[in-house]
Amino acid sequence: MASLNLLLTVCFAYVALLFAVAFAADRVAARGGSAWLRSPLVYTLSLSIYCTAWTFYGAVGYAARSGLEFVTIYLGPTLVMVGWWWGLRKLVRIGRAQRVTSIADLISSRYGKSNMLAIGVTILAVIGVTPYIALQLQSITLSFSIFADADPTSGFREGASVIWVAAGLAVFAILFGTRNLDANERHHGVVTAVALEAIVKLIALLAVGIFVVWGLSGGLASTMARIDASQIGTWQVDGGRWATITFLAAAAFVCLPRMFQVMVVENEDERHLQIAAWAFPLYLLLMSLFVVPIAAVGLELMPAGSNPDLFVLTIPLSQGREGLAMLSFLGGFSSATSMVIVAAMALSTMVSNHIVMPIWLSWQGSAAAQSGDVRKIVLSARRVSIGVIMALGVAYYEVSGGGAALAAIGLIAFAGIAQILPALVGGLFWRGATRLGALAGLSLGFAIWLYTLLLPALGSGVLPEAVVEQGLFGWAWLKPYGLFGIAGLDPIVHCVVWSMTLNALAFCVVSLATLPNPVERLQGAQYVNVFDHSAGPRGWTGSVAQSEDLMVMSQRILGAQDALTLFAREAELQGGHGYLPEPTPEFLNRLERKLAGSVGAATAHAMVGQIVGGSAVSVQDLMAVADESAQLLEYSNKLEAQSAELSRTARQLREANEKLTQLSVQKDSFLSQVSHELRTPMTSIRAFSEILRDTHDLKKEEMRRYASVIHDEALRLTRLLNDLLDLSVLESGQVSLNMREGRLAEVLDHAVSAALAGSTQRLQVIRRSEGEALQLCSDLDRLAQVFINLIANADKYCDAAAPQLTIAVRSGGGVLTIDFIDNGSGIPAEAQSMVFEKFARVSAEKAGGAGLGLAICREIMERLGGSITYLNGRRGGAFRVTLPVEGAALAAQ
Ligand code: ADP
Repeated sequence: MASLNLLLTVCFAYVALLFAVAFAADRVAARGGSAWLRSPLVYTLSLSIYCTAWTFYGAVGYAARSGLEFVTIYLGPTLVMVGWWWGLRKLVRIGRAQRVTSIADLISSRYGKSNMLAIGVTILAVIGVTPYIALQLQSITLSFSIFADADPTSGFREGASVIWVAAGLAVFAILFGTRNLDANERHHGVVTAVALEAIVKLIALLAVGIFVVWGLSGGLASTMARIDASQIGTWQVDGGRWATITFLAAAAFVCLPRMFQVMVVENEDERHLQIAAWAFPLYLLLMSLFVVPIAAVGLELMPAGSNPDLFVLTIPLSQGREGLAMLSFLGGFSSATSMVIVAAMALSTMVSNHIVMPIWLSWQGSAAAQSGDVRKIVLSARRVSIGVIMALGVAYYEVSGGGAALAAIGLIAFAGIAQILPALVGGLFWRGATRLGALAGLSLGFAIWLYTLLLPALGSGVLPEAVVEQGLFGWAWLKPYGLFGIAGLDPIVHCVVWSMTLNALAFCVVSLATLPNPVERLQGAQYVNVFDHSAGPRGWTGSVAQSEDLMVMSQRILGAQDALTLFAREAELQGGHGYLPEPTPEFLNRLERKLAGSVGAATAHAMVGQIVGGSAVSVQDLMAVADESAQLLEYSNKLEAQSAELSRTARQLREANEKLTQLSVQKDSFLSQVSHELRTPMTSIRAFSEILRDTHDLKKEEMRRYASVIHDEALRLTRLLNDLLDLSVLESGQVSLNMREGRLAEVLDHAVSAALAGSTQRLQVIRRSEGEALQLCSDLDRLAQVFINLIANADKYCDAAAPQLTIAVRSGGGVLTIDFIDNGSGIPAEAQSMVFEKFARVSAEKAGGAGLGLAICREIMERLGGSITYLNGRRGGAFRVTLPVEGAALAAQ
């Protein structure tokens, strides 16, 4: 019986070998590397950290419990490798182009360098991977205890050994994972050691399988018979579980931080993927080849109740094959250690980069930028993170008691990590995916996974029994295993269906509803179109290339002519010839400011920075963004114009409507006023004519008086009708003007005498002949009509004791102004605006006319191309008539 001491010695020797290999590989890599270090073989083997102790030991246990279902764990990655290698290639290309250091980094940089997303993914990864690390610690401890059981003298204590194992692994990860800060984050030592471990675990599993089939079972045929006889032969396919677990394994293969580390971050050459695409599935096939035979033979040979998870170890031991058992132990040990080391490294990078460093930087403030030891801080942060992560693993192991079946914990971790998938795949292929969309999807999926899978699995200590049975707050639709009333599903299937569906849905809906910011758009373009521009490390070789690219970009944004002028002027300023200036900082600053006017400061800065900074962004991408911005700008301009047009039309409609309403009101009041005006004289004519007709003994005197009243009223009626007719002709625009030449003084002479003929008042008219001595060409009769009205009004309404009217004529600037100002009390301010309306009378008692005079004046002046206004601020009534006059006509005659 192998003593525990021998085992420990072998174990230490093996670890020492790993150290040596890792150390040597690091040395070789530091000296420039050798071909085999960067071979596709090492890459493919390093991918085998997918096969952890869970697959090494657990697959046999899984097969013993649920038949062929364990195949799904291998099927998922195989499908990804064979069917989605182009997607992986894109991932690897982006990882290199963007110098991505972890999956959190990838997601955050895709969505506009969002630190929030990075923190979210990091937390998710830590929570999802911790149980997995605990699982590895458990399997190592378990395998130790198997040997300890066989060696009663050992005094082996499980609890202590977990801590020792964890500490040892942490030291390894710290030594080789955080030795230096490489910009590419490549760790040749670790990868080479992992590749070596991959070979050891494969050989160990194959050896046990060969021993079981040919050494124990007696050849292939009898093994087949045993399999048929065992319960494995009668397995039944649960389609839902198969599909779900295959999907989970595929998703985890892409999203697990440690897989991302070896597949993307540690990748040396994208072409390695081509080989890995068939070599890795082959490796998986070999790993799974003997799982079923070992399970079937183990179930038959081993005593009832023995743990099938450890058949790989216990079968050789029970047969006294200590050497084989030792090899098997090393296989399991390799699986566990490689996984833990790489996972701890990957997680520590995420934790230190996205959680510790931001906190440290904000705590340090500007001092951090000056002190040169940021690198030291980063490395220390990573070392501490590795320690903390391992401690978390140990804590989880202690809390969970290490009892749960291996497969169950692994699947729970897979389902958690799979929540990253929508944001990852969406980010690779969909430019419309936004930061908020990714955040929404990720948090929703994470919450559902936590509630429907992880918390219930942790036992009643975390989530009370009542919640699991009756749902949260007693709401049946919130049962962790029967969300929204869909009960009876397998918990894994249930969780994956709900979390992934709602995660993807939230991601899409929120992405569609939100707009990406400039950095997001730029990053999105670089991710989605990564193949269009990153054909190897191209770089900007000369300044001419940069200037040319800047020129092309500026033309897109500023327009060809403006850009050419700007560049030519800059070139001249620099004393050069042609139109391409050197990309000096001053020029770049000015260009950036100029571009910022069109696309905003952030985008301009990013665009110029991307071209001049020499990063792998393609000019096409910048153009795409520029075009997009231009389209957006154009579109928003169009929208603006349309909305301005709309509001203009609306305003016009409103005005038209108001006018119509006003007109209709005017028409009504006009009709009622006209009938009122007509009725008054009509009534008196009727009354007096009746008296004349019916009264026979009228005195002659009376008869004459009555007849003259009738005559006056008839005259008034005639005047009124004439005015109305005149007004309607003027308003309808059908009036024909009789333009002729004449002297203004003569027109005024005529107007004064006509207006004052028969007047009883003694209105004194004051005129200055010098202003009036000019010739003008207009409809002089109509003009006289206006003057007559104004003079007659002054005669009628001027209430001064000695009424006076001043007529002042001025001309200049092509306009002739004639003011009629009397010394009466004028028209009160509130009535001034309406005196030009029809039937507008200011004081009823002095009613001279029907109130049509000024309305007619206004119409006439409009027809003549001039205007008539009331002059505010004069002492008496004051009207101003203006008339446009040709310069020649104004010349004094
Ligand atoms: P009417 O035909 O009744 O004279 P107008 O349209 O010519 O009507 O004048 C309208 C009103 O303006 C008059 O009723 C009168 O009250 C007022 N008005 C016109 N001219 C003067 C003035 N020079 N001084 C004071 N009130 C005036």
